[in-house]
Amino acid sequence: MGPIKGDLLKKELSVFTFKDLLEHFPYRHIDKTEIKKIRDITPATDYIQVAGRIISCELTGEKRGKRLVAILKDDTGLLELTWFQGAHWIQKNVRVGEVYIVFGRVSFYMSNPQITHPEMEIFSQEKSEGRAFLEPIYPATEKLKARGLNGRQIGKLVFTLMGLLNEKDLPENLPEQVIHSMQLPARYEAFSQIHFPKDNEEYQRALYRLKFEELFLAQVRLGLIKSNRHRYTKGVVFDQVGTIFNNFYNTRLPFSLTGAQKRVLKEIRQDTVRGYQMNRLLQGDVGSGKTIVALLSMLLAADNGYQSCMMAPTEILAQQHYTGLKTLLADMPVEVALLTGSTRLAERRKILAGVAEGKIQIITGTHALIEDTVQFQNLGLAVVDEQHRFGVAQRAKLWNKNAIPPHVLVMTATPIPRTLAMTAYGDLDYSIMDELPPGRLPVTTVHRYENARSQVMDFIKAEIQKGRQAYIIFPLIEESEKLNYENLMKGYENVKAYFPEPLYWISMVHGKMNAEQKDANMQRFVSGDTQIMVSTTVIEVGVNIPNATVMVIESAEKFGLSQLHQLRGRVGRGGEKSYCVLLTGSKITTDARERLKIMCATSDGFVIAEKDLDLRGPGDIEGTRQSGMLNFKLASIVQDKHLVDLAKQYAEKLLSDDPDLSMAVNLKLKTYLQTQKGQTSWSKIS
Ligand code: ADP
Ligand code: MG
Repeated sequence: MGPIKGDLLKKELSVFTFKDLLEHFPYRHIDKTEIKKIRDITPATDYIQVAGRIISCELTGEKRGKRLVAILKDDTGLLELTWFQGAHWIQKNVRVGEVYIVFGRVSFYMSNPQITHPEMEIFSQEKSEGRAFLEPIYPATEKLKARGLNGRQIGKLVFTLMGLLNEKDLPENLPEQVIHSMQLPARYEAFSQIHFPKDNEEYQRALYRLKFEELFLAQVRLGLIKSNRHRYTKGVVFDQVGTIFNNFYNTRLPFSLTGAQKRVLKEIRQDTVRGYQMNRLLQGDVGSGKTIVALLSMLLAADNGYQSCMMAPTEILAQQHYTGLKTLLADMPVEVALLTGSTRLAERRKILAGVAEGKIQIITGTHALIEDTVQFQNLGLAVVDEQHRFGVAQRAKLWNKNAIPPHVLVMTATPIPRTLAMTAYGDLDYSIMDELPPGRLPVTTVHRYENARSQVMDFIKAEIQKGRQAYIIFPLIEESEKLNYENLMKGYENVKAYFPEPLYWISMVHGKMNAEQKDANMQRFVSGDTQIMVSTTVIEVGVNIPNATVMVIESAEKFGLSQLHQLRGRVGRGGEKSYCVLLTGSKITTDARERLKIMCATSDGFVIAEKDLDLRGPGDIEGTRQSGMLNFKLASIVQDKHLVDLAKQYAEKLLSDDPDLSMAVNLKLKTYLQTQKGQTSWSKIS
C-alpha cells in the first residue's frame, strides 16, 4: 500500500501495525453468492448487494449540493448511486458501460431507492475463487471510502495479510486447560475464521473465542494487580480491637447491625490485620447503612493508634458526616474535625496542626482533605464516600498521605452493575451490602403528568398535616448555570404559591449559594422549621432526614436511573410510609418512559443498575473510571454477561493455582501479557 493510503489508515482507523489490522474486525459478512434484484428493494431493505451495468455517471447540483450520481441497471430496474465526497476521484475511476457488483445501505429519496457511497467492484466470475465464501465487510470512514479504501478493500488487505501469516505468528496465549475445557478454537484458527469464515458456525466459534480471550486477559491482569498489591504493597496493621471500638459498639451504637454490615465489617477487619494495604470497594444500596460501617472502621483505626479521614463529594455531606460523628461519638475520647473549602483560616490552621500532631483522630471533609497542606501524623484509613465524583488522580493523592499507604475504603452512592464492577473495578477488594436495615417500608413510586400537579401538591399538604416533610427537586441543566438558577427560581415561586407563609415554610438549596447559606437552609429543614425543601440535585447524595416522606422530582425525564434512585433514597429512611412522585410533561421519549417505568416497578438498586446498563450501555454509566478496561473490541459487558462471568471464574482459578504465572503451562499467557505493554498503568489506584 502506498504512503497516502497508509497514512489514511492510521488517521482514520488507528491501524498502525499488522496487529492493528488483524484486530480491525469485520462488522458483518455478506454471502457473495447472493445477488439481489433491484426490483426486490423495499422500504424495509437495509443492506443489499446487486449487480448491473452502469449506464451513466454525472456530476450534478451546485456548490454544497454538488454530488456524483450514477445509474445502475439490471434486468429488473434502475438504482441510483450517489457520492458526496471524492466525487471527482470516483468519476475518473468508474467505467460507464461496465457491469459492477454493488453493495451498500439503501435509502429512499423522493420514494426512489438509492445507495449513498456504495462499495463497488467490477463483476467477474473468477473473483470469488480463492476467496472465502462469506466475505467480510469492515468498518471504514467516508474519507477512506472516498479514497477507494472501503470496507471491502480493507478486507483484501486483511486477506493478503492472513496469507502471509501462519500458526507461529499467532501463537496461543490461553492455557491449554482453558482452551480445552471451554472448547475454544486455537488462536490462529480464530483469527482466520473471524475474518474469513467457512460458514456462520465457524464464525460464531471464532467470535466466542476472541471475546472470551479479551475478557479473560482483562480479568487476569486485574487479578494480578490485586494479588500483587496483597503481597507486595505493605499496609498498616490494625490488630487491636480496643476500648474505643468496643465501647462504641456495646454502648453507643443506636441499633444492631444488619447481617450485611457485620459481614462487611468482618471483611474489613480481616483485610486490615494482614499487613498489606486494603483497597476495598463497598457497594451498597441507598440507605443500606454504609456510613456506620465507615465509622466503625475508623474507630478500629483509632484503637490501633492511627488517624482516619472520610472524604465526601459535597460540603453538605461532609457537614452531615461531621454532625453525625460528633453526635454518635459525644463524650468519647475521639477527636473529630471538619475541613472543607469554606473552613475559616484560623480554624483551618488549628485543624491542620491538630492533624499533623495526631491530636485529631478522625477528620471528615471535602476534597480539601487531599490538599498538600493536610499532613497527617499517621493516616491509617481513608474512606471515600460516594466515590464516583472523585477522579483517580485525587485518590492517588490519598495514597501518598502516609509513608505506608493508608487502607482505602471506597463507598459507592448506588450499586454499579455487576459485570461493570467486575471489569472496571476487578482489581479492588470488593464488598456488597445487599440488605437494608429492618423496618424500612418500601417507597411507593408513581409517575404523574404535569396536569396532575395540583393533586400532587395537595398530597404534600396532607403529609405535612401529619407532621411530615417533603423534597421538591429540580433538574440541573448542564449547559447553563444561569438557566438552572432561573428554572429553580420559577419552581420556587410556583411552590410558594401553593404553600404560602406563614402556614408553610420552605427551605431552598442550590449550587449558587455559599456553604453558610446552604447550611442554614439545610439546618432549618433538619430541625423541622421548614416543611419543604426545594433544591437542585445538590441534595442528591447521602442526605439523611428520616422525617421526610415525600420526594417530588420535577422534569423527572431529565434524570438518569441511578440519579433517580439516589434521589428517591432520600425518603423512606424513617418508620413512616414514604412516596416518590416523578413529574413529567406529556411528551417524553421512549427511553425516558422506560426509565420511569423501571423506577415505579422496583426499588432494588442492584436491579436498577442492571437495567441502567442495558438501557445506556457501559460508556455512560456513572462510576466508570478511566474506562480503558471497558474498551473491548469484541466483547460487550452488556450482551456478554455470561462470558464475563466465565472469564472471571477461569481467571480466578488460574491465579489461585499459580499467582505468579510461573508454571510452565502458563508460560504462553505470561509471555503474551508481557508483550502487551501499557495496559495497566492507571490501575494501581482504587
Ligand atoms: P447509605 O448507605 O445510603 O450511606 P446511611 O449510612 O446514610 O446509608 O444510613 C441510612 C440510615 O439508616 C441512617 O439513618 C442510619 O442511621 C440508619 N441505619 C444504618 N444502619 C442501620 C441498622 N443496622 N439498623 C437500623 N438503622 C440503620
Ligand atoms: Mg451515604
